[in-house]
Order: sequence, then structure tokens, then C-alpha cells
Amino acid sequence: MLAGVLDADLGIRSRVRHEVGGLSRPELIDVIVATVEEARRGVADEPVAVGIGVPATFDHAKGRVVRSTHLPLIDLAIEDLLAERLGLPVVADNDATCAAIAEHRAGAAVGVLNAVVLTLGTGIGAGLVMDGEVRRGAHGAAGELGHLPVEPDGLNCGPGCPGRGCLETRVSGPALEREAERVAIARPQSELAKAAANGPLRGARVVELAHDGDLAALEALATVGHWLGTGLVAIANLLDPEMVVVGGGLAAAGDLILEPARAVLRERAMPPAALEMEIIPAKFGADAGLIGASLLARDRAARDRAR
Ligand SMILES: [Zn+2]
Repeated sequence: MLAGVLDADLGIRSRVRHEVGGLSRPELIDVIVATVEEARRGVADEPVAVGIGVPATFDHAKGRVVRSTHLPLIDLAIEDLLAERLGLPVVADNDATCAAIAEHRAGAAVGVLNAVVLTLGTGIGAGLVMDGEVRRGAHGAAGELGHLPVEPDGLNCGPGCPGRGCLETRVSGPALEREAERVAIARPQSELAKAAANGPLRGARVVELAHDGDLAALEALATVGHWLGTGLVAIANLLDPEMVVVGGGLAAAGDLILEPARAVLRERAMPPAALEMEIIPAKFGADAGLIGASLLARDRAARDRAR
């Protein structure tokens, strides 16, 4: 859980980060409140509003969590509840949508009318900006691009998704680790294989080895990049954005995954998107959600003042 107080220039003036897990709903809400209060104590000025990004399907119009695989927040009117506890206006949204808002309004996609912002981590988060507006869909579940089916008989996706061969079974931290284990066995002389012999291969280590030039690590990243490209073809043909912004932990691999992804896009998507859709790294790293949530809070405070 990450909280911060941001100033008018989006500078993070106070920042608090806590590892949380395994909490009941009342415990989780208490921790959210305590974390916000802790961030608030870090600055002299009183904040005007609170924005919160939640990893959940979120009904933005009603301010309610619809569905959440990882947190006990289902069907919770989180905005009203937290506003009462914190004594400030509260606005919430899906965390990937918050990241998209940050990149669109202040990051890599400023001035772009149609952009998709992907966050590649444990899974894939995605936010959609179409015709200059954030799109959330009928239930707040638009942009679940990690669950684009790319492999008909692929792996079962996992908790919360009944799908098989979803994009995130091929493009995510765990997907990279699976691919790296496979390549390590096929190339026993590689640095990757030596690293695998010393314990489970972490994604960050695979990226490091690839940057050092290990061919096996490069091969694993290229395969993940290839699958990312397959997802980009679907995104291009479905949404025709000018730009796809790629952030999250896996984005540390940079062009080692983005170049193979672009190659698949150029080869397989329908023109003109195939040639014109740009694939670029995100500006904001792990702070994208925080910055987007603060922009939502700022909008909310401005609306309240205008009333
Ligand atoms: Zn899925």
C-alpha cells in the first residue's frame, strides 16, 4: 500500500509505503485510514481531497467496488466510507485507470487522444484513453487486456479469471520466470542456467543477465516480447490508439521486450495502425497510480469548489 501527499506540480511531498496482506475487510480499511493519516502528518498543509486507486473492478459512477480478486472489498461503497473516516472528499478508481490518467495528463501520453497504458507486473493492468476521455466500460471492467486470449489451449489463467491462454499467462513477471526456467534447461552452459541452479529465477535477475548480454536471458525476454506483440496486434485492431505506453516492473527490460513486440505488431496488425501505433516506455514508474489518484482528487476538489 502506497500513499503520498502531492503538491500542485505533482511533486511527492510525503510518502508512506507498507507491505500488507491477509487482512480482513475491517482491518484493511483501518490500515488504509492509518496510512493516509501517516502521509498527511508528513506535510504542514492540509490536503484538499483524497484519491485512491484500487486493484479491483470499480464502478466509478457509483463509487463502489464491483469485484476484487485480491482484496476483501467486494460491493463496498469505498468513497463514502473513507470520506467519513478521513473527513475529506474521497474519489476512487481502478489502479490501472489511475496510472493511465497519470501518463495521459502528465506523462508519456500528454496530448495524445487515444492511448492505452499497460502496467506489466504480476499480471497486466491496463487503462484506456479514447477520444481524450478515460473509458471504463459498462461495469468498470473495460481494458482487462491481460485477459485477451492469445493462445487457445494455453495455461489456465488463475484466480479470478476462468480463461485459458490469456495474455498475462505469457506477459508478466511470473510468465517471464517460467520462460526463463525453460530456456535455462535448454541452454545449460548459459549464465541464466547458472543463476537458475542457485534458486528460483526472479524476473529482475533475468533482466539483469540480459542487459549483461547473456543470450539465454535475451531469448527469454524476446519470447515474452513476442507475446506482448501478439497482444499489441489485438489492441491495434480493436482500438486503433496512436500510442501504447508500457510501464511496470517488466518495463525495466526496455527495448529487449519492446523491440520484439514492435516487430510482431508491424508484421501482423492491420495497416495503418501496424506502422503508426507507437510503443513507448512509461514516464512514471511505481508512482503512476499515486499520481493518477492525486489528479482525480484534485478534479474532485475543483468540482466541490465550483459548487
Ligand atoms: Zn485471464
